[in-house]
Amino acid sequence: MEKNPAARVQDHLVFGEFGGVNASIEDSSTFTFLQSSKMQELFEHEIEGCFLYSRHLNPTGNYLARSLAAMEGAESAIVTASGMSAFACTIAQICSSGDDIISSRTIYGGSYALLKNLFPKFGISTTFVDIVDLESLKRKITPKTKIIFSETLSNPLLEAADIPALRGICDETGITLIIDNTFCPMMISPKLHGAHITVYSLTKFINGASDTIAGAICGDSDFISSLRDVNSGAVMLLGPTLDSIRASSILKNLHTLHIRMQRHSQNALFLAHALTELGVKVFYPGLDSHPQHKLIEGMLNPGYGFGGMITLDARTEEIANSLMIKMQEKLVGYFAVSLGFYKTLFSSPGHSTSSEIPLEEQIAIGLTEGLVRISVGLDDDIERTFLRIKGCLEEVGLI
Ligand SMILES: *Cc1c(COP(=O)(O)O)cnc(C)c1O
Repeated sequence: MEKNPAARVQDHLVFGEFGGVNASIEDSSTFTFLQSSKMQELFEHEIEGCFLYSRHLNPTGNYLARSLAAMEGAESAIVTASGMSAFACTIAQICSSGDDIISSRTIYGGSYALLKNLFPKFGISTTFVDIVDLESLKRKITPKTKIIFSETLSNPLLEAADIPALRGICDETGITLIIDNTFCPMMISPKLHGAHITVYSLTKFINGASDTIAGAICGDSDFISSLRDVNSGAVMLLGPTLDSIRASSILKNLHTLHIRMQRHSQNALFLAHALTELGVKVFYPGLDSHPQHKLIEGMLNPGYGFGGMITLDARTEEIANSLMIKMQEKLVGYFAVSLGFYKTLFSSPGHSTSSEIPLEEQIAIGLTEGLVRISVGLDDDIERTFLRIKGCLEEVGLI
């Protein structure tokens, strides 16, 4: 195996219409045909290099999709207008009324709410589990189980899914393993460890500019084609189409992702160590103190570090709130949801991105009220950032 499988994204070169070094933007919703028979044929099956309508397939969106597939080591991929639509369409494609999904209980609040509140209306239920407790997970499998779903590193506690072990469980039972790898692009390639399908919010690290919402699904060619089937494809029929102008800008940003991931990780590791030394309770996969440090290390592609997300415990909701406001005043970053931006972003998950998870469930998963999730930015001088954070911690009385 090559040292760094995710580096394959750089081998997917596309030229512009006039030999430009960037892909042309195909600014069309519909495409012409020279023969009526070809149009008919395209309604029946895909024809390489032939385009029908941009909700079905757009050349620029497809460039981005193919680059993502190369990065993932997947046969194919499709891009969508959001991470949520990527996830929802994947489920809608695989599950029918009466099916059950086994999902990690520590997932992005939107994904949680989708599984818990919306899909049951269509007869698709979800059993939420502690993804770290594989024995208990196995006991929850029934003949109705179609999918096991987890995030690679969970939001916000940064617990890891043991992807090879989950795949082992799936193989015994014919279940599809879906991994949301939004927190760990390039760093971890879920496909290499056994995921059947990887979903992404491109909104976060992959685009990295916090200027747009987008998503992607990576998997084998048959599955990706089924998603755009004109009669039964969830992406084709639900219609979350990513605009070609946005696809083009995300594709350009994708080519700096490896450098950004290295810097996010480097800065986050520095802060995790420095804050721990101050006596602050920090969760970061790169710390020896993280319960799954070794498991995560074993899944990492070399060179990208442990990612840009850290969580710290500010003890109470009140302290967490004043800390975040202070950090924004002192130019540490922005008090905002989302992640993977070049600037540092922080929020309190219990009251924002995980607020869809009921309180008793939040307590069970260790999501305490004082947690502050920090998406560490690309700061040039992270020591200066640390000193600013330290000043804020002193002002709110945490140290
Ligand atoms: C943000 C996020 C999503 C949803 O993506 P959108 O692009 O906002 O629709 C899904 N999963 C994870 C882990 C996320 O962080």
